[in-house]
Amino acid sequence: MVVDSQQGSLFAVPEPAADLANLRERCDACRRCGLAAGRQQVVISRGNPHARLMVIGEGPGAQEDATGLPFVGRAGQLLDQMLASVSLDSNQDVYICNVVKCRPPDNRKPTPEEMRACEPWLAIQIEAVDPPVVILAGATALEGVLGIRGGITRLRGQWHPWQGRWVMPVFHPSYLLRNPSRQKGSPRWLTWQDLQEVRRRLEAMTSGAAAPPG
Ligand code: SF4
Repeated sequence: MVVDSQQGSLFAVPEPAADLANLRERCDACRRCGLAAGRQQVVISRGNPHARLMVIGEGPGAQEDATGLPFVGRAGQLLDQMLASVSLDSNQDVYICNVVKCRPPDNRKPTPEEMRACEPWLAIQIEAVDPPVVILAGATALEGVLGIRGGITRLRGQWHPWQGRWVMPVFHPSYLLRNPSRQKGSPRWLTWQDLQEVRRRLEAMTSGAAAPPG
């Protein structure tokens, strides 16, 4: 296993992320879709741009819109806890972002047009961070990234090769907040299995035991 002492993380490599440098500035000026009208601020990312794991969620909620950071509400706290349960630090080991950078009104799901409009910004993030492993948190991220509508229950926990990366859909933490049971077979239990599998894949790729998809 490679330990990157400079970054203080097991799963980070010191790659430059220059393309991210002015992303906030560019998104601040973005009016590519109607979500610009209702935002307090754009929400770009949190975590480590050198991480080898990226988590992509849906879009900002009220707290994210207010703070400018993704996944900082209750769902974000649960995400952090679940990552920590598999020894992944959300500040060091993960880069966290969303499919759309501006808050949809009333916390509705972003439309396909809004996701398409925001796709260039997500593409810059993916290219700059270049994560070998990606978690798609929830059905909207599954649709926005892989273009698969529906099927999160069927597809969660399965690896999908995508652009030379391994991508795994998991339940969105908001859904897990509404389903708090931890019993075997519950959504939380299943997500914990999924995150353990993510951890295993990261370890295998870091050690060279697993390769990116061809
Ligand atoms: S959601 Fe994305 S595409 Fe739409 S205005 Fe915001 S930054 Fe631009």
